[in-house]
Amino acid sequence: MVQRFSRSLRFRFLAALGGVFLLALISLAALSKWVIFPALHKEERAVVIKELAQIERSLNISQQELLAQARDWSIWDDTYEFIQGNYPGYTDTNFSQQMFEEMRYQLMAFFNAEGDVHFLAGLNPATGQYHTCYTAERECRWMSGLIRTMQSSIKEDPEQGKSRLYAGTTPLMVASNPIVRIDESGPPQGWLFKVRPMDDAWLTITEDYTGLPTTLSMVEGGINNDTAVTISGNTIQAQRYLTTYPHNEQLALGTQLNRTSYLASLETFRYVLLWTACLMLLVIGLVLLLLERIILKPLRTLTQFTQQASVDLKGSSNLLGRGDEIGVLARAFQEQFKHQQQLNAELIELSTHDPLTGLPNRRLFDQRLREVVNISLNTGQPLSVMMIDIDHFKLFNDHYGHPEGDICLQRVAQTMHDVATAHGFFIARTGGEEFSAMLPANTATQAMEKSQSLSDAIDQLKHPHQRSPVASYVTVSIGISQLDIGGVMTPSGLMTAADQALYAAKAAGRHCAKVYTPSLANATISSHSAPS
Ligand code: GH3
Ligand code: MG
Ligand code: MG
Repeated sequence: MVQRFSRSLRFRFLAALGGVFLLALISLAALSKWVIFPALHKEERAVVIKELAQIERSLNISQQELLAQARDWSIWDDTYEFIQGNYPGYTDTNFSQQMFEEMRYQLMAFFNAEGDVHFLAGLNPATGQYHTCYTAERECRWMSGLIRTMQSSIKEDPEQGKSRLYAGTTPLMVASNPIVRIDESGPPQGWLFKVRPMDDAWLTITEDYTGLPTTLSMVEGGINNDTAVTISGNTIQAQRYLTTYPHNEQLALGTQLNRTSYLASLETFRYVLLWTACLMLLVIGLVLLLLERIILKPLRTLTQFTQQASVDLKGSSNLLGRGDEIGVLARAFQEQFKHQQQLNAELIELSTHDPLTGLPNRRLFDQRLREVVNISLNTGQPLSVMMIDIDHFKLFNDHYGHPEGDICLQRVAQTMHDVATAHGFFIARTGGEEFSAMLPANTATQAMEKSQSLSDAIDQLKHPHQRSPVASYVTVSIGISQLDIGGVMTPSGLMTAADQALYAAKAAGRHCAKVYTPSLANATISSHSAPS
């Protein structure tokens, strides 16, 4: 049963469509994994990197702005005079805690042409107190590290005119410029450094300006990548590593975005995948259903149809009425069936009937005889047979010719058939001009009466037979025997007995009928042997 199912078309369709479905699912999964998800992820990365670039641009603008402020102060005759010690009121006029707070400066440092500190002013980040000094000592001690870095920077590059990032607990933005006359004539007389802390206030301003969350942190050690993207939970972070002065530390400027859009896209895509899979399943189910209805079911009916012996199959009219290939096939089968049945009928007819007279032949007669003998022996009903032979038929042929002999045979046969039909017995052509009849439920006496009817009917034909010594027309002699009389118990015994009776009729002058009796048998044997 299982094996039959596994070989069935239904199973094959199911397996094939299932395979296609699996293949499609695998392809979709592969497409998602290696094409769509990476593309979405790339897009997400590109967005966060772009946002970070905007923050970096904002930082650059901020640095340029501080540099512009440093240049504004350093290329100014008042500062030029002050650095040379010619303008003692410069600090009182221009410096105040309020100015530092408003400008968000942490420190302003003036160095003379030798690179030594000339004047310092700043807000202590630890205490928030404002101080001015001439050396980085006492209340200005907190500046000393920064001042040393500035001095080494001047040594490295006296040109300055730069805005740099300094590492520290709070990262710093430092802009510096040489101090020159307002018309930039004469040699530089020193340097001015302006320092702005990149503290929380700076971050808030940047966030307000860019509209993006901004982070800033110190990073230990060297980082190869200048931009790094990391994902944690529902957020994606990008960090840009900025080199600070001096070069042993790095500053990470970062931003982070909520992954809602990416996750929503992912979710949508998963839904699309799920629905696609469901839709495919539905389509496969529908295809199978249609296959079942359009092809498989009619095919099964066709198979049943071909297995039936009868062409008039119940319910096959639907099949035969179809206009498609299955209908054509069914009609071809039906035609084939009809043709085969016709051939079979013809074959049966050929094998059981005599082609010249159309009467049943010896084969059919013998077969029927066996059956009726059995029935008679079982039921005890009488059964008689006749053997009918045309008298002097050789002479007929010799005189009229063989074709006329055939016509004569056909007429005699037809006449005997009519009589047999009328009396309800069976007659066959069992030899050249010999015929046999079987009469169930007839005793030999009853058969004798019927043999008379046969003989009379042939006489009435008056088929001319000029050469016959018996009459001027065709006549017959008839031998009759009865089952269970005179020890006759078998079909062949019955026919032998009838044959002997026939010979007795011939011997008695022909054109007569004789019934078999055992005494007749002896006489027949002697008459057989007499002519020779
Ligand atoms: P009897 O009265 O003793 O029966 O003599 P008979 O001549 O009829 O018997 P015999 O057996 O000598 O001859 C039978 C003849 O029947 C011989 C044969 O040519 C003829 N015959 C047999 N079959 C056919 C047939 O199909 N067509 C024709 N035209 N003649 C046939
Ligand atoms: Mg004969
Ligand atoms: Mg004969």
